[in-house]
Amino acid sequence: MADPFSIYVLSRGPKLYSTRRIVEAGRERGHDVRVVDPLRCYVRISANRPEVHYKGEVLTAPKAVIPRIGASVTFYGTAVLRQFEMMGVFPLNESVAIGRSRDKLRSLQLLARRGIGLPVTGFAYSPDDNDDLIRSVGGAPMVLKLLEGTQGKGVVLAETNNAAASVIDAFHGLKAYFLAQEYIKEAGGSDIRCFVVGDKVITSMLRQAKEGEFRSNVHRGGEARTIRITPDERSTAVRAAKIMGLNLAGVDIMRSSHGPVVLEVNSSPGLEGIEGATNKDIAGSIIQFIEKHGRVGKTRTRGTG
Ligand code: ADP
Repeated sequence: MADPFSIYVLSRGPKLYSTRRIVEAGRERGHDVRVVDPLRCYVRISANRPEVHYKGEVLTAPKAVIPRIGASVTFYGTAVLRQFEMMGVFPLNESVAIGRSRDKLRSLQLLARRGIGLPVTGFAYSPDDNDDLIRSVGGAPMVLKLLEGTQGKGVVLAETNNAAASVIDAFHGLKAYFLAQEYIKEAGGSDIRCFVVGDKVITSMLRQAKEGEFRSNVHRGGEARTIRITPDERSTAVRAAKIMGLNLAGVDIMRSSHGPVVLEVNSSPGLEGIEGATNKDIAGSIIQFIEKHGRVGKTRTRGTG
């Protein structure tokens, strides 16, 4: 066992499964773990003396911070995390890497540059370019996604070019940015969540969409079970996490006719579904990673772009 140290879990929900499990795993290994609500943290920025305040208290710097920052509070949450980084605290995932991964378009651009397989994706501004945008990703059936969506919300399968054009018009009407994407039909409504810690996929699960649905999100009734992944899938997941600069990542992969394609790299992957499906102590692996690799005062930006 490593020498005990202090860890803050930056999370709004002490009762959430993932937060609870991380706290439990940390305490089991003798560490002093505290849940801190990022929205109740405020910062004092002054030359050479960064501080984080919390409900009237000036926080002493822990050794490590585990960010569990919800997508809706990314801006504030990463600002607080950055302040901890300024204090020399080891972040399980860095603020810059979280910011990168929360931007779907930027993530795909960074992954594509390094040769990671992706569904062919288009992004356009003007409705005048609709026809060519649709053509450029291979035409219908195709997927349209709101850039800001999570949990499968705002992800639409357009079966015909006309349907695609109508959805695009609707998104334009809402002044919302969206991606147009090649539909990976051959995956049959399934995708694989690879759970990456450091440079390893520690476990993976297959998620299958329910009958009549193409989105496999568990929030949409998808079902999860364990699966053995191929060496190619394993290295794709590890490389994707590395390119984003994440130590902890949930990399979603689909099996396409042109090899594994990455859909998304999630910086706060939930533990409930995957611990349930695989019976693994993932929270324990996360704490062990920090014990082994957490270094105070060594924050620097990893990943690219
Ligand atoms: P979210 O971040 O909202 O979960 P995703 O991009 O991961 O959005 O899409 C949600 C689900 O829709 C995926 O888990 C997958 O099952 C399905 N899906 C997304 N993109 C495609 C695609 N290009 N081809 C086939 N299915 C897709």
